[in-house]
Amino acid sequence: MPAYDTNNIFAKILRGELPCYKVYEDEHVLAFLDIMPRSPGHTLVIPKAPARNIFDISPDDYVHVARATHRISAAAMKAFNADGLTVQQHNEPASGQVVFHLHIHIMPRHHGVSLLPPASRKEDAKVLEDNAAKLIAALG
Ligand code: AMP
Repeated sequence: MPAYDTNNIFAKILRGELPCYKVYEDEHVLAFLDIMPRSPGHTLVIPKAPARNIFDISPDDYVHVARATHRISAAAMKAFNADGLTVQQHNEPASGQVVFHLHIHIMPRHHGVSLLPPASRKEDAKVLEDNAAKLIAALG
């Protein structure tokens, strides 16, 4: 497996070199909206620790990501009035991973509505701002 690349997009977001629609942050993790959402409210949870994917993250760091995913999933159900929610995490290109800093996808779902294919369209800034505000409010 290739080594962790410190110039990946999410590493730049963590360093504040690129913006994001932040919804949650603590000592160990950052969560922000996917700018090409596959469903309304599509959120990404990433560790602050540098990890390419599940194969090089420490178990403890993975637990921090899982805890945040658990909490944000409950809030996302409320914020987006969802009927269900898909949690997904890709490891290496064969699985669909395109950004090589571990991230968990949280995708609120509604009955009868399919996920859009990955990277279908960039969402409007206003929609992302509104969705981030909704999720932040639901996180309390
Ligand atoms: P994956 O296929 O699991 O590697 O997913 C990468 C995800 O990152 C995709 O859903 C992209 O839409 C998303 N993405 C790419 N660039 C950004 C960015 N600058 N901010 C937020 N999400 C992004």
